[in-house]
Amino acid sequence: MKIPISERKREFERYQEEYEEKALEILRSGWYVLGNEVSSFETEFAAWCNKKECVGVASGLDALKLAFQAIGIEDGDEVLIAGNAYIACVIGITANGGIPVFVEPDEYYELDTQQLERHITPKTKAILAVHLYGQMCQMDKIMEIAHRHGLYVVEDCAQAHGAKYLGKRAGGYGDISCFSFYPSKNLGGFGDGGAIVTDRTEFADRIRILRNYGKSTKYQNAEAGQNSRLDELQAGLLRVKLRHIEEINEERKRIAEFYLGSIKNRKIILPRQYAGAQAVWHLFVIRCEERAKLAEYLEGKGIGFDYHYPIPPHLSEAYLGRKKGDLPLTEKYADEVLSIPIFNGMGQKEMEYVVDMINAF
Ligand SMILES: *Cc1c(COP(=O)(O)O)cnc(C)c1O
Repeated sequence: MKIPISERKREFERYQEEYEEKALEILRSGWYVLGNEVSSFETEFAAWCNKKECVGVASGLDALKLAFQAIGIEDGDEVLIAGNAYIACVIGITANGGIPVFVEPDEYYELDTQQLERHITPKTKAILAVHLYGQMCQMDKIMEIAHRHGLYVVEDCAQAHGAKYLGKRAGGYGDISCFSFYPSKNLGGFGDGGAIVTDRTEFADRIRILRNYGKSTKYQNAEAGQNSRLDELQAGLLRVKLRHIEEINEERKRIAEFYLGSIKNRKIILPRQYAGAQAVWHLFVIRCEERAKLAEYLEGKGIGFDYHYPIPPHLSEAYLGRKKGDLPLTEKYADEVLSIPIFNGMGQKEMEYVVDMINAF
C-alpha cells in the first residue's frame, strides 16, 4: 500500500460541484481582485472567529508582517516566540526589524508558558503565540502574562483554523491573529492567501490601507504600503470551504483519535493535548529517538512522512549567530519529530495500515 503524507484531491472531489460552480460564477463576473467575494469572506470569517474585523491578504507570511507593522514593531523590539516554530513566523518578526527571542516549547510542542516571563526585558513588545500542529497554546496564561507586562499578543493560527482552547477559537484571544490559506492548511484554498482578524478597528483599517499600496483614497497614499491583496477566486472558494470546515476538522479529529488509541509502540512518543484543548490536527507528529531508522522503515512500507521541522529557526542559515545547544529541548524535538499521514478522505484501511506498520517497527 502507498499512502501519501497528505493530499488535497479527495477533499476537493467531495465538494467539487460547489467549488466549480463558485469558480465559474467568479470567472464570469468580470471582477477579480478585492470585490464582493473578498468582503463577504471577511465578514463571514470574522464572525466565525468571533472577532469584529477581518482583512484578507496575500499569504500567511504577509498577515504576520502586516500584524507586526500595525502594532508598531520596529528596529530592536523584542518578540517572544517558541523555538520550534515555523521559519515564516520568525520572518514576520524580523521583516519589521524585530528581534525574535526564542523560548523553549513544552512537552505539548507549544510555547512553554512557565518560561515566558524570564525572557521579558524592557525591549519586549509582543508575544507571538504560534498554535503549532493544530493545537492552541495555553492562551489564558499567555494573555495573563501579556496584560501584566503590557505586551501585545499576536496569534499565528496558520495551522489551527477552528482549534479551541477553553471554549474559544484560535484567533479569538490575541490583539491581532494571523491566518494562512495555503492549500495544505485545514482551511486551505487553491493558491496563496491569508488574513488577519482583530477587534481593534484601528489595526484593521491600517492593514486595509497597507495591503493596497498604502492607499487611503483612490489617488491618495497615506503611507508606502505593499501589494498584498486577496483575490476574488481564492476568497470565493474559501467561502465554500468555510461552510464545511467543521466536518473537515471533525474528520481529522477522528483519524487522530484512531492513531492515539491504536499506536502502541514503546519507541514512539504520541502527541498530547492540554486539558481544555480541542486540536484540529493540521499535522500528526510523533517522536522517535531512532528517527532515521523509522524513516527508512516507513519509506520501505510506502508510508509518506515529513519533518516539521528538522532545522529550528535559530539554527537556520538565515539566522546565523545562535549556536547549537542554545535551545536543547527545541533541538531534541527537531531531531526526533516525524509527521505521519493525516488528510481528509483518508480511508480506514489506510489508517489501519499506518498503525500496523508503526506498531511492528
Ligand atoms: C504556513 C504557515 C505560515 C505561512 O503561511 P504562508 O501562507 O505559507 O505564507 C506561517 N506560520 C505557520 C505556523 C504556518 O504553518
